[in-house]
Amino acid sequence: MDSLRINADRLWNSLMELAKIGATPKGGVRRLTLTEEDRRARDLFARWAREAGLAVEVDGIGNIFARRAGADPGLAPVAMGSHLDSQPSGGKFDGAYGVMAGLEVLRSLNDAGVRTRAPMEVVSWTNEEGSRFTPVLMGSGVFSGVFTLEHVRAQKDLDGVTVGEALDGIGYAGGARAHKLGAYFEAHIEQGPVLENEGKTIGVVQGTLGQRWYDVTVTGQDAHAGPTPMELRKDALIGASRLVLEVNRIAREFPDYARGTVGFLQVKPNSRNVIPGEVRTSVDFRNAKAATLDAMCAELKRVAKAIEAECRVAIELREIVHFEACAFDPALVGHVRAAAAALGHPHRDIVSGAGHDAVSVARVAPAAMVFVPCAGGLSHNEIESATPADLAAGCDVLLQAALKAAGVAGAARAAA
Ligand SMILES: [Zn+2]
Repeated sequence: MDSLRINADRLWNSLMELAKIGATPKGGVRRLTLTEEDRRARDLFARWAREAGLAVEVDGIGNIFARRAGADPGLAPVAMGSHLDSQPSGGKFDGAYGVMAGLEVLRSLNDAGVRTRAPMEVVSWTNEEGSRFTPVLMGSGVFSGVFTLEHVRAQKDLDGVTVGEALDGIGYAGGARAHKLGAYFEAHIEQGPVLENEGKTIGVVQGTLGQRWYDVTVTGQDAHAGPTPMELRKDALIGASRLVLEVNRIAREFPDYARGTVGFLQVKPNSRNVIPGEVRTSVDFRNAKAATLDAMCAELKRVAKAIEAECRVAIELREIVHFEACAFDPALVGHVRAAAAALGHPHRDIVSGAGHDAVSVARVAPAAMVFVPCAGGLSHNEIESATPADLAAGCDVLLQAALKAAGVAGAARAAA
C-alpha cells in the first residue's frame, strides 16, 4: 500500500471544474453558503461521489457524507473533508481542496481495488465560513453538538432569510442522523506564509491556537499641553503606548507559537494640544498551549499594574473572548508526519492560527489536518493560489494517513 498514489491530474481537474461554479473575474470564487452557487457545487460533488460508487447521505444541517464501504461495517468510518462554501471574494482552494482531496483518495482506492477495514467517508460541511450566516463552523458544529439544529436554522442573513429557509430552498435539509467517526482528516491550504517561507511541502498540524482577547481602557486626565509639567501628567496615551510594547514583548518571550497583537487604538479627546485623558485599545493573545496562554495573560496583568503606578493612570482589562487551544489526536498527527516522511516530502510541525471544521470535529472524534503551502500565504482572497504538485503531495499524505487509520483488508491487485 505504501506505493499507492493519488491521481494528481484528476485532483487538479476536479478543483478547476468545481471552481467554475461561482467563478469571479479575478480567478477566485464567490460561493456563499446555501446560495444557488453552493447548491450547484453540492450537486456536482454528490454526482461525482455517486459516480465513484459512494453512498451519499445528507444530515439536517446539510452536511454531505459520501461513504465507501469497508470490510468491517461495524467499525466507525474514517472521514476526510472540509467545506465547499467560500468568502464573498474567496479563492479556489480554501475548503474545496479538502473535499476534493478526500474524494480523490476514495477514487484512487477504487482504481487500485483496495478494500479498507473501516468504511471511509468524504464530508462536505455546511457553512464553514460564517460569512452569510453566523456562527462559523456551523455544519461541523451541529454535528459535534456545539450548536443545536433548531438554533442554527433560526439564524438570519442580512436580508432576513433564515438558515432553515435557505437550506430547504436548495433542497439540502436531509434526514441522516449524526454518526460516530473513527477518525477525521482535513487537508487544507495553510492560509499563512510559514511553509512557503521555509520551502516545506507539508504542514503536520498539531492543533489550533487558543485565543484570549481583551478590551482595554486606560484612564488618565485631560489637561492643557502647555501649563502641565511632565512629572504631573496623567497621560493615558503614554500608559497605552507602554502597554502596546509590552504586548509585543510578551508574545516574543513566550514559546509555542505565541502571538500578541494590538490592532485598535482610540485616543480621547484626540486633540493636538490636550494631554490624552483616555485611550481605548485591545489585546489579542494566542498560544498553542493553554497554560502558556494563561501565563501571557498573567504577565499582561502584572505589567499593567506597573504601568498604572509609573504613568499615574488606571488600566482596565476586560476579557471578551476565550477560546481554548485545540490539540489534534497525537496518533493521527503521527500518521500524517509518518506519511510525509515516507513519501519524501519536506515537512514541519505547524499550528493553525485559523479555525477549521476539524476543530469542531475534534470534540467528538480523533482529528488531524494536513497543510499545503499557498502562494504568499494569501487566502480569503480571489488570487489565492496553490501548485498542482503541492496539492497532489498533500493528497498523497492524506491517502496514506487515512489508510493507516482505516486499515487495509485486501487489494484486488497489487497497488500500482
Ligand atoms: Zn477553509
